This record gives sequence, structure tokens and C-alpha cells, in this order.
Amino acid sequence: MTLEDWLNVSFGVTSKNGYEVTFPCPECGHERFSFNTQLKVGHCFRPSCGYAPTIKMLNVRSRTQIGVVINSEAQHYKKPAPKLEIPSEAKPLVELVDGQLMTKFERASSEVCKRGVSYENQYRFKFQFDGQRVYIPVYSNGELINFVGRAAWWKELDIPRYKYATGASTRATLFNWDEMKSKEHIVLVENTFNGIWLMDEFNATSNFGSDLSKDQINLIHLSGVKRVVILWDEGAEKLARRAVTRLREKAVQAIALKIQGQPDNHTIDALRPWLQFALENVRDRNTIIDTTGGQS
Ligand SMILES: [Zn+2]
Repeated sequence: MTLEDWLNVSFGVTSKNGYEVTFPCPECGHERFSFNTQLKVGHCFRPSCGYAPTIKMLNVRSRTQIGVVINSEAQHYKKPAPKLEIPSEAKPLVELVDGQLMTKFERASSEVCKRGVSYENQYRFKFQFDGQRVYIPVYSNGELINFVGRAAWWKELDIPRYKYATGASTRATLFNWDEMKSKEHIVLVENTFNGIWLMDEFNATSNFGSDLSKDQINLIHLSGVKRVVILWDEGAEKLARRAVTRLREKAVQAIALKIQGQPDNHTIDALRPWLQFALENVRDRNTIIDTTGGQS
């Protein structure tokens, strides 16, 4: 729908001359009111009125809001099923401009970087930001099926820490599963930032919390993954043992690591030997390996 179409639907265009379209004045009703579709301003020819609105001002008056028209028009070309979308105010955190990674959100991007997600990975995983939340899209078979909206932790905000897509399941898949499902082994962490931080070196991914759902266990079972190491946060040992047992019941070799705090309380160098040890010992009778030396 063009701007002219919208003006016609909203105000009833009576004539047109180049970029100038004429319709009755929305302010005083005078029949000679003209709107320039290139300059995007209008003016009323009645001297005592002098109404000179912008599109925004006209949009407020129109029964058909310009955004609504454009959206409803767009739906004709879309699949009828409602599509999950990240809040529209959210914009890419990092963009590729002339081959260079750029951000319009310096602070947000650098804070995410401190959490272990490089600028490259913020771009690669299509991170978004709306001033309040960092959104991490979750795809499965190329389709957006959920997002993790993490409140900006460097700001004082009175909003819940996490927000997910309404009605979407957080347990239906694993982060970046399209890629991870063909790995020989994977490491599961609770937090998506941690998953991306450890992804390249350890094939880490996030299962979005300290539990594995039936669906997630089935996905792993049916995938190319042969070995799983669970690296959940301190306090999740019981759940980790249960998840290992359930994976083993599906003939997936699995073991958990008990750590102090969260994975990112440790360095990659400190985690590496434990993860290697765990991968070599997935067949162990025990379901969990204690890395804390009994300190927690
Ligand atoms: Zn007027």
C-alpha cells in the first residue's frame, strides 16, 4: 500500500496533480486541502484554518492507522499461521556494514561481550536489543521458535530478568540445535550466554535451564550426538543426575560435572581438563563427577 492509497482510504482523495493530492481538510472540512506525498506535509487552502499536518499528525486522525493498513496488507502475502517475532522495537545488536561488524548499541554490545559472547557471535546468532532487553533468537529447522529476552543487567530496570515468547516452549529444543545435532558430543549448560561462550571449543549449547525435557532428550537420542556432558550450575546436581540417567536409558552416553557456581565463574583453561575427563568417562558407573574437591 502506497502513501497515496492510505490517504485515499483514510480521507477520500478527490484529485491528484503530481505529488500533490487533494482531499477535504481533516481539520476544518474545507474541500481544498492538499498533501504533498514527496515532502510529506499538507496544507489547508482556507486562510482561517491553515492546518499543515505531517503524516504522523494525519495518522492520529485517521480511523485506519497507517501501520495497521501496512501490516494487514502484508498478511495477505504471509502464511496464515501467526508467526513468532521478536518485539518489533528490538534492533540488531551487531550489524555487518561494508564487511565490518558495527553496533549502534556500544554499551549493550560490550556488556554482552563481557559475558563471553563476542561481537562475531552476537552477529552470528542475531542478537537484538530494544533498550531494555537483549534478545537471543532460538531457531529450529531454520524457524524462529522462541527467544530469550534477558533484561539489561547493567541498567536499573524494574522488569523480570527473563522474558520468553508468549506461548512458546522453552523446552522444545536446544540452542543452535540445527548445527549442534550433528556433533559427536555436546556439553549442556543452563545459560545461553555460557553456551555460546563455550560453543566453539567444547560444542557447548544451552538447554535453557537445569532440566532436560522429554522432547530435548528425544532430540538428542535421535541426533548424531553420541556423548553428552552436563555442566549445570551449582545446586542442580540432583537434576543433573536425573538427566544423565534418562539419557542413558535412551542409550546416549552421558555424565554430569559438579562445579562451584556457574561455568563462567571459571576460566576456559580451568574447565578444559574437567570437560576432557568427563568426555573420556561418560561410561562411568557414577552419574556425576565432583570437580569441587568437596568445597561446595
Ligand atoms: Zn482546513
